[in-house]
Amino acid sequence: MIDFPKAREKMVEEQIIARGIKDPRVIAAMRKVPRHLFVEEALQGQAYNDHPLPIGEKQTISQPYMVALMTEALQLTGKERVLEIGTGSGYQTAILAEIAQEVYSIERIRSLALKARRLLYELGYYHVEIKVFDGTVGWPEKSPFDAILVTAGAPEIPPPLYDQLGLGGRLVIPVGDAYSQDLIRVIKTKEGQKREDLGGCRFVKLIGRYGWMENGTINQ
Ligand code: SAH
Repeated sequence: MIDFPKAREKMVEEQIIARGIKDPRVIAAMRKVPRHLFVEEALQGQAYNDHPLPIGEKQTISQPYMVALMTEALQLTGKERVLEIGTGSGYQTAILAEIAQEVYSIERIRSLALKARRLLYELGYYHVEIKVFDGTVGWPEKSPFDAILVTAGAPEIPPPLYDQLGLGGRLVIPVGDAYSQDLIRVIKTKEGQKREDLGGCRFVKLIGRYGWMENGTINQ
């Protein structure tokens, strides 16, 4: 029998705190959310390892450190309304839900969205809403958002997502080609957009109207 709480604590110490994640809210969330429940049973023994894992439909649950880094980059204080694009397993959604007031998440693959929705409900995250759609167009009815997180790699920043940020809002998104991206943070200010590069990363493709087409070309 694997001691999941012990594996999780070790993950937080060695992969999250030791690598420089400082936000106490992010650390507490990583300590709490049972990551092993977001992968299939045969992979649960690897759930706290330092790498992504397959979740079916050719998609992956992100590496723990990447989840923590992206969440920290959103600079959440607890009162925010957050939009996530790419629900996948729902693990990142749960981390956001531990911190934010309201979480909206969009996933284009129905089977993943349904599975994540069921699990998040079972775990008691009632302030999370998930829909099956192309997230590159955002969720205008629920905007403005204080923070938007995209967990798939985009060829460029989808304009609707920037538009749906409130003033002072943060958008964190991997931008690059199909093989490697830079994690970009865009802040909406009165003077316009402020962009920062938070370093290299590698994600599956963001597929949709303002993302990639399924065949790998840009869809605009
Ligand atoms: N945060 C997730 C990561 C999943 S991988 C986790 O930790 O489990 C990225 C996800 O983005 C995939 O499930 C993929 O289907 C989804 N995705 C890709 N393009 C999308 C789009 N345009 N809208 C919504 N979801 C999208």
